[in-house]
Amino acid sequence: MNKKVTIIGTGLGGLASGLLLSKRGFQVSFIEKNSEPGGRLNRIRKDGFTFDTGPSFFSMSYVFKEFLDKCGVEMPFEFVELDPLYSVNFRGDDKTYHLYKDIKRLAEQFEGVEPDFENKMRRYLKKSRALFEDTFDIVIRNNFDNMFDYITTLMQVNPRHIPVLLKTFWQHVTEHFSSKEARQIISLVAFFLGRTPFDTMAIYSLLSHTEFCHDGYYNVKGGMYNIVQGLVSELEKSGATFRFDTEIKDVSFSGDKLTAVIDREGNRYESDIFLCNADAALFRGRVLHRKAYSEQKLAQKEWTMGYLTFYIGIKGKLPRLDQHNYYLGTNYEEYAHNILKDPDTLQKPYYYVNVISKHNDSCAPEGCESLFFVCPVPNLQYKKDWSDRDEIVDSILEDFSKRIGEDIPSMVVSRTIYTPKEWEERFNLYQGSGLGLSHKMMQIGGFRPANFDEKLFNLFYVGASTIPGAGLPMAVISADLACRRIEAFANEQKGK
Ligand SMILES: Cc1cc2nc3c(=O)[nH]c(=O)nc-3n(C[C@H](O)[C@H](O)[C@H](O)COP(=O)(O)OP(=O)(O)OC[C@H]3O[C@@H](n4cnc5c(N)ncnc54)[C@H](O)[C@@H]3O)c2cc1C
Repeated sequence: MNKKVTIIGTGLGGLASGLLLSKRGFQVSFIEKNSEPGGRLNRIRKDGFTFDTGPSFFSMSYVFKEFLDKCGVEMPFEFVELDPLYSVNFRGDDKTYHLYKDIKRLAEQFEGVEPDFENKMRRYLKKSRALFEDTFDIVIRNNFDNMFDYITTLMQVNPRHIPVLLKTFWQHVTEHFSSKEARQIISLVAFFLGRTPFDTMAIYSLLSHTEFCHDGYYNVKGGMYNIVQGLVSELEKSGATFRFDTEIKDVSFSGDKLTAVIDREGNRYESDIFLCNADAALFRGRVLHRKAYSEQKLAQKEWTMGYLTFYIGIKGKLPRLDQHNYYLGTNYEEYAHNILKDPDTLQKPYYYVNVISKHNDSCAPEGCESLFFVCPVPNLQYKKDWSDRDEIVDSILEDFSKRIGEDIPSMVVSRTIYTPKEWEERFNLYQGSGLGLSHKMMQIGGFRPANFDEKLFNLFYVGASTIPGAGLPMAVISADLACRRIEAFANEQKGK
């Protein structure tokens, strides 16, 4: 009889792991708190509009392709490369910067702003590339059995990168560019990790290589949720089963073996192996009651910012906008220093707008546009009361209207808002922190909650809060890493 694996959570990490395991002969079943699969990679359908709930684009598309090849499955969704990658506008400035992968074309955007931009960018990207190539396969795509293993792995990385370990992203970027525009635009990618360029390590400038040189950014034809639907359909063909609206609250174990997980109604789910796709730190604290993850210890960890996301359907088209647009203010340094903790930053918010219907006609009724706004905000540790949500959204819509020369409020026919409170409640995200644990030095690699349990030998973890970290490609790599552990474990059991 094939080994039974129960997966708690149907985020991308859980779904991808389930697919690989079911292709390797495991009997896979999922338990999900919500009524639909996908976790943060989700969609909202309302008033004839379809919106991506969270992730709206991704890098490293080859990670998906390699993973599906490993599963022996044809790509069940179609990627669309973004060109330009995105656009950036500063408040009070009519100019919009279009960010192209073609560095010559990109340099044209900075003419008269950053002298010799092209050469500076090429020099900067050469370093980003070296960082990427010297760490990606060695550190990011690797399991660590213990701290010694992690340190030994780090020692294999070329020592020329040591100086970068000691700098912030911002310091690194300011060494390469002199204008505020180039510095702010190139360092924006640090926000994609849920913190700011001022507290993100310069080592993550490897992301500039992935965005501008290596692979760029991608969308999915028909909307990002097609990734989830494609994976679920493959899983169903492989015999995997799903149980929705069921939240795991407790466990039962015998010695060092997990025997069952228990939902809020007291139902027990037995299995040979368990894989947890719920947040790896939170599950250890709130479900397994581990001291190292007590409420006090969780609060001492460094978490990423919250997101105020809103989903706006408008009657009318916005042909002048790119699909991905960033709207920045004029006080970048002050804003970035305060955004994680100070709700006053929302007086002059920075935000991102995704025109989902631009390349996906089916996401909006004819003559309409579906807009997805993401505004970085303090998470619930620093702002608990969100009764001012409508006021903040109104002020952003007003600012957006001025900047694009349209009267957006008068065009709105559909409006949905998620504050960090909704993000917390829907997906069990700690204090509504959008990307979970931050990627500071002491919370990555061997320091991140491991993808195997410290005490229960048949419990493993997958997803953003275990290794390697946040983002869709990382969730897929995390699935690969967790499955390697599960397969090794199952083989070891067979040999006994
Ligand atoms: C607003 C926003 C925008 C983002 N944009 C991007 C982007 O553009 N590109 C990108 O690459 N990444 C982006 N991300 C990050 C990306 O969404 C995540 O890194 C990724 O989706 C995490 O996947 P995961 O597998 O870790 O699990 P999750 O998506 O967190 O799924 C975990 C699942 O477990 C379920 N669950 C939790 N606890 C329990 C329980 N006790 N019992 C049962 N089920 C449980 C949850 O309901 C959820 O379905 C964004 C995130 C946010 C919030």
